[in-house]
Amino acid sequence: MSSSVALRLPSIDGLLRHPACAPLAERYGRDSLLTGLRQLLDELRPGVLSGQLAAVEIGPEVLAGRVGERLAQQQRSQVRRVFNLTGTVLHTNLGRALLPEEAIEAVQMAARYPLNLEFDLASGKRGDRDDLIEGLIRELTGAEAVTVVNNNAAAVLLTLNSLGARKEGIISRGELIEIGGAFRIPDIMARAGVRLHEVGTTNRTHARDYQAAISPRSGLIMRVHASNYSIEGFTARVPTAELAELAHAHGLPLLEDLGSGSLLDLTRWGLPAEPTVRQALLDGADIVTFSGDKLLGGPQAGLIVGRKELIAKIKKNPLKRALRVDKLTLAALEAVLSLYRDPDRLAERLPSLRLLTRPQAEIHAQAVRLQPLLADVLGELWQVSAVEALGMIGSGSQPVARLPSAALCCRPQVSKRWRGRYLLNLEAALRGLPIPVLGRIGDDALWLDLRQLDDEPAWLAQLPRLQVDR
Ligand SMILES: *Cc1c(COP(=O)(O)O)cnc(C)c1O
Repeated sequence: MSSSVALRLPSIDGLLRHPACAPLAERYGRDSLLTGLRQLLDELRPGVLSGQLAAVEIGPEVLAGRVGERLAQQQRSQVRRVFNLTGTVLHTNLGRALLPEEAIEAVQMAARYPLNLEFDLASGKRGDRDDLIEGLIRELTGAEAVTVVNNNAAAVLLTLNSLGARKEGIISRGELIEIGGAFRIPDIMARAGVRLHEVGTTNRTHARDYQAAISPRSGLIMRVHASNYSIEGFTARVPTAELAELAHAHGLPLLEDLGSGSLLDLTRWGLPAEPTVRQALLDGADIVTFSGDKLLGGPQAGLIVGRKELIAKIKKNPLKRALRVDKLTLAALEAVLSLYRDPDRLAERLPSLRLLTRPQAEIHAQAVRLQPLLADVLGELWQVSAVEALGMIGSGSQPVARLPSAALCCRPQVSKRWRGRYLLNLEAALRGLPIPVLGRIGDDALWLDLRQLDDEPAWLAQLPRLQVDR
């Protein structure tokens, strides 16, 4: 008969006093350590009772090690930096525009110290937070006045509600779009209390369609820049200038939601043309709305610019209070807008523009340089090549336009039936790195578009940790 000595788990008190646990208490606090140890011991108890665990598996050093790993995991922030190698520069799910140094400094200042958020330093009286950027916006767009809210969706909602509640909003059927995240123009109109009056057809809307819709019930005419899709072929739309004339002849305001919009003509950097805010206003739009973190390259925000008396009405709406931006956003926005005063240096200083305009030859050279290093880590089951690729601006800007770029293209050298699994495993392994690397799968390969690989040293440093399951 074999007599086995019954194993016993160490006591909590014993563990807490053990030298292996002291650094954990120091680092994570005694309470967290205690909770972690209790949980671990509870999990191990059945194994101990049934005799399935060996003495070494429940030694104090081993237990301390396991609790330490868990506590480290728990403490790791949920908000994590990633490498965006998807090829989409302004990726909504990855935080869109990256802020320039000037804006980062401004955010730090605003986070650290009290500031004149709503305080007029000249008069010593209460101020208005919009005043902090009004001068810059007027200078850069030619608008009479401005107000800023949380994002462009909020800007559209607030504007519609302020100027068209309980009245009809006239809009072309070709502009009743859905933008990601369930933002649909008809739904936003309904929530804003504006009755939708759609005119024309999906591909063609004429001035006479708008004309026929105007009645005493009309409150406004709206135009939406159909940013995330394009209608080609037999199409017709009324130019903004003509639509503005029609609206004004009937005393109606014309709203133009530009979506991304742009403060400058992007073609000067070889990018596809986007309507500028200044031009929309010159054409006669009374209110123009656009995002802060799309092509503008700033923080998440919605800018509402245009005629003074309409902006005043918008600012009086109680919803404005619910949708207003915080001090960090305003600080970043002012710093970004300031850079636009010097367009010649903008592409160097504004990260999103710098990345959007990186020459393909430079990206390709980077791909050629990194190709052998990645090939080496992935081993002979993968063919890694430096190839030309096509990226996108993203965030609904110019959905059809492609940015000529270059990528590391990883193809599994296995039979067709295994390829999908290999690709998903590689994708997961890249996502599991300390700074997760996000690419895209397509055409039986995983593509890492290098347009946005700025921090090459950090990317290379973690490469040896890449472990792909088979
Ligand atoms: C992106 C977009 C919006 C929404 O802007 P957010 O800043 O994401 O809220 C609204 N309208 C159009 C046309 C857009 O392209």
